[in-house]
Amino acid sequence: MENSKPIILWFRRDFRLSDHPALFEASKSGRPIIPVFVYDEVVETFGAAPKWRLGQAVDYFVDHLSQTGSKLILRRGNAAEVLLALARQTGAQDVWWIRAYDPDAILRDSSVKKTLKASGLGARSFHGHVLFEPWAISTNQGGYFKVYSPMWRAVKDIEVPAPEPASDVLRVPEVWPDSENIKDWDLGIEMNRGAQVLASKACVGETAAFERLDDFLKDRIGEYKIRRDYLAEHATSHLSENLAWGEIGPRTVWHAGLRAHQEGLRGAEHFLKELVWREFAYHLVYHTPRITRDNWRPEWDSFPWSEVDDEAVLRWKQGRTGVGLVDAAMREMYVTGHMHNRARMIVASYLTKHMMKHWRIGQKWFEDCLIDWDPAANAMGWQWVAGSGPDAAPYFRIFNPETQAQKFDPGERYIQRFVAEIAPEPGPEALAFFDVCPRIWGLSPNDRYPKPIVGLAEGRLRALAAYQARSF
Ligand SMILES: Cc1cc2nc3c(=O)[nH]c(=O)nc-3n(C[C@H](O)[C@H](O)[C@H](O)COP(=O)(O)OP(=O)(O)OC[C@H]3O[C@@H](n4cnc5c(N)ncnc54)[C@H](O)[C@@H]3O)c2cc1C
Repeated sequence: MENSKPIILWFRRDFRLSDHPALFEASKSGRPIIPVFVYDEVVETFGAAPKWRLGQAVDYFVDHLSQTGSKLILRRGNAAEVLLALARQTGAQDVWWIRAYDPDAILRDSSVKKTLKASGLGARSFHGHVLFEPWAISTNQGGYFKVYSPMWRAVKDIEVPAPEPASDVLRVPEVWPDSENIKDWDLGIEMNRGAQVLASKACVGETAAFERLDDFLKDRIGEYKIRRDYLAEHATSHLSENLAWGEIGPRTVWHAGLRAHQEGLRGAEHFLKELVWREFAYHLVYHTPRITRDNWRPEWDSFPWSEVDDEAVLRWKQGRTGVGLVDAAMREMYVTGHMHNRARMIVASYLTKHMMKHWRIGQKWFEDCLIDWDPAANAMGWQWVAGSGPDAAPYFRIFNPETQAQKFDPGERYIQRFVAEIAPEPGPEALAFFDVCPRIWGLSPNDRYPKPIVGLAEGRLRALAAYQARSF
């Protein structure tokens, strides 16, 4: 007999209608679908900007789903309890979702699966957040990849299935369960004054993500390889924000890059390579979940990084280290929720090397400020720069922010765009920083620009000395 019991579709970081295997399969089944988002124990731990950005994604998706005649049910509480209660209330027989790979999500999802199964319900997860599931690819010796390049060589010719089309009509249940209201959750509350400024920068939702991809393919992918490192240029895709919240699927982006490559656009292969860095991050976080919390190479546990959140750390967070490029980057993140990839490497190097602070301090701050915050890419990025991670930059590779600025910010356009105290005529973004930063910092664009907290040569020598004196 035909199964007509509803399927609960649990959305987490996958707020899209296309390239969504679970939604596609549910829609094909002909059964009623109850889409749900749960403000659960994992979401509770998110930093301020990701939580705010998640709220934007959910809010948009409520509307987006309604165009299919469906509805997003919102509930708050422990995920397992909420989903079980919802299934009992609606008579749903199954709960489906797209798989996640970071340790917090895995812990939650395992508990959900156990609870549902113990109650005789179906729990099914689908592949959709990455191109290659972490267990589906391996080295020639059968292990997981610890180095990026062999992973790229292993995956670059694997045929990635075409993304599923959008499901535009979803069968609805006879009676909708009640839903909470997203406004009552106030997911942006920790953002204080920052939310309004970020709202003007964020690019929310599936339609906007597709437009962003189209713009990139039309205008920038050809020159991507040669322009991507220039800090003041709009040369990269900025899709990390949408990939992080699943507003566009990875297969959609991969196939678009592949088509551009086949059409002979020069930068396309490099773009595909960057997408595989994202895959590498998920591969690592799944096989070595400790990467999110501990030195991936345990021998670094004895390295004398300081974890004290002191005045120097505060100045790094405020973009007041006295090093123009570092400060511009920190303020770019504060004002836009995004930071240029090269700038991320430079500020991370400055914190962990010149300042000799633990990478966890920076990881946590990024987790609070980035609207493209991604648990896997953030952890890998920090450990890569710090030297404690897999395939990491050697510790003695210390970025010099001045030479980096000469090379990648000629004319100081990037620095002046974000640091009002340096700019002859500060623009809106440089000034916006003072509107959004905590009042308690007491900062003003008229402040004198500070002297460096540590001289570049002095900091470099200190870091190298610590590295040479290490006990491993
Ligand atoms: C210290 C540090 C922290 C980082 N934290 C994050 C984070 O929280 N979230 C995040 O998405 N990325 C993070 N990255 C990676 C990278 O900086 C961003 O993905 C990139 O800047 C996003 O801009 P884009 O979308 O224009 O990238 P593009 O250059 O257009 O690249 C396309 C896509 O490839 C992926 N990608 C590119 N570079 C990397 C990389 N190094 N690692 C993993 N994936 C990559 C992203 O999904 C990106 O959207 C971090 C890097 C460092 C060094």
